[in-house]
Amino acid sequence: MTSPTGKRVLLAAPRGYCAGVDRAVIAVEKALEHYGAPVYVRKEIVHNKYVVESLSDKGAVFVNETDEVPEGARVVFSAHGVSPAVHEAAAERNLQTIDATCPLVTKVHKEAVRFAADDYDILLIGHEGHEEVEGTAGEAPDHVQIVNSPDDAVNVTVRDPEKVVWISQTTLSVDETMETVDRLRERFPTLQNPPSDDICYATQNRQVAVKKLAPECELVIVVGSANSSNSVRLVEVALNAGADASYRIDRAQEMDESWLDGVTTVGVTSGASVPEILVNDVLAYLAERGYGDVQEVRTATEDLMFSLPKELRADLKAAGNAPARPRRENRTSLSVEPV
Ligand code: SF4
Repeated sequence: MTSPTGKRVLLAAPRGYCAGVDRAVIAVEKALEHYGAPVYVRKEIVHNKYVVESLSDKGAVFVNETDEVPEGARVVFSAHGVSPAVHEAAAERNLQTIDATCPLVTKVHKEAVRFAADDYDILLIGHEGHEEVEGTAGEAPDHVQIVNSPDDAVNVTVRDPEKVVWISQTTLSVDETMETVDRLRERFPTLQNPPSDDICYATQNRQVAVKKLAPECELVIVVGSANSSNSVRLVEVALNAGADASYRIDRAQEMDESWLDGVTTVGVTSGASVPEILVNDVLAYLAERGYGDVQEVRTATEDLMFSLPKELRADLKAAGNAPARPRRENRTSLSVEPV
């Protein structure tokens, strides 16, 4: 319903859970149901505090490295992927692994392996220290250099400027990545592109939706955790696209009343690892403050789903449990009007 004050929310769509996150979270839930607690998980299964806390409550035990997992126990690898060295370390301890690496991250790993086999210098655009980047770089440590930002392009040195390829982390800003590529190409004109987009469909779609609504918003709220790369990027995208202000919050309790001073239109979106319940809490908070008119700004429809990790599928099948299809999480419980 339109507010007499003109106050409204523009709700980005797509937002929230992507196919890779949905699959990884369900993998841990199914593993807990099927094998019983504890199920160990190396690193945060996805970068979201609420999800990690919820799974911990159900019996998941999050560890930093495989040497914290008891010999022979079951461990799930997170959606961000792991390097071959992690697989080897797990095998040495006879761990039973369930690999929940997102298939779109695995695709980038395979690119790194293939270009390394052809002896390319591989420029991996991504954030040093991010788990996904560590995993991808670990596929070909002798061939990969990490390029953190456009400014970092000047620091790159290669063996043969004619044999250089770039690949990237899946959750980067599309615009900033292309700026980095342009800078690299100034230095290496024959720089080869990856065979297909490495920045995944979910990251791109969420950025496109925010770009569309941000120019109309005095404030854009991004629900997502601080270590979620794609969530942090959404704040940057919102500001670059014209929002007067943008804040990332983990949950509605972190909203600050003063952010709403003089604000008529609030944009709301969420990162790819964020369950919709957290967005609904923010919408409820806003509705209580006069922003009950929620209009959806949809720029794409997503129907991609990935099947569960093969190790888990096989065990569920052997036990006569039909493997569950990952569910779609990006629904809202509030009625919204498309614009
Ligand atoms: S953000 Fe993209 S790459 Fe990461 S888990 Fe989701 S679909 Fe996979």
